[in-house]
Amino acid sequence: MPIESITVNEKLLAYITSVSLRENHFLEMVRKRTETHPCAKMLITPEQAQFMTMLIKLIGAKKCLEIGVFTGYSTLATALGLPEDGKIIAIDRSREWTSRALRHWQEAGVDDKIELRVGEGMVLIPALIDEGHTNTFDFIFIDADKKNYENYYQMAVTLCKPNGLIMVDNTLWRGSVIQKDTEDLSAKQLKSFNRMVFEDNRVDITVLPMADGIHLIRKKGEADELDI
Ligand code: CA
Repeated sequence: MPIESITVNEKLLAYITSVSLRENHFLEMVRKRTETHPCAKMLITPEQAQFMTMLIKLIGAKKCLEIGVFTGYSTLATALGLPEDGKIIAIDRSREWTSRALRHWQEAGVDDKIELRVGEGMVLIPALIDEGHTNTFDFIFIDADKKNYENYYQMAVTLCKPNGLIMVDNTLWRGSVIQKDTEDLSAKQLKSFNRMVFEDNRVDITVLPMADGIHLIRKKGEADELDI
C-alpha cells in the first residue's frame, strides 16, 4: 500500500493551530494591524512565523537577510529567534510599507537588530556582494516579486554561509503550479524556479506544504563535497 500524506482541510488546520500556535504578543499586534491593509494577503501565516522563529533558534542563526519586508511581520518573527547580538539586513522597495515595519520593530524592541535598506532588490542585493557579505548569512528569507525569484535565489546562494539555510515563500502558489498551461505569470515563474532549484546540486531541498508552499534550502558545506 502506498504511503499517503494527510490532506489538511480547514478543520484540521484549525485543530493544528489550536494545539500548536502560541503567537507572540508583538507578532499578533503587527498581524492584526496589517490585516486591514489592501495587501494583507502578503502576510505570512502565524504558523509560518512561529516555524521561522524556531528555525532561527535551531540553527543558531546570528546574521540574517530578508528580501521582501512588507509591514515587518516575518522580520519580527526572525528577530525574536535571534540572540542579543543577532542582526538582520531587511530589503524592500516600499517606503510606505517599511515605515510601518520600522514602527512595529521599535514597539517590539527589536529595531536595533534590524538594518533596513529601501530600494530595488536587483540593486541592493548585488551591493551586498560588492560589500563583501558573500558566504556570511546564516539564514535568508526570500518573499518578494516572483519575477526575480531565480535572480534572488542565485544571489542568496552566493551570500549564504555553507550549511546555511534559505527559506523561499509561496513556492506552491495556491497549488496552481500543478496546472498545465496555466496563464498565471507568477505560477509559471514559480514552476520554473522550483525546477531550477531541484536541478541545483549545490543545495539540499525540502518543500513543505505549509501556508502557500515553503522551500527550505540548505547550502551544502565542506562535509558534503563528495556528493556535489
Ligand atoms: Ca509571501
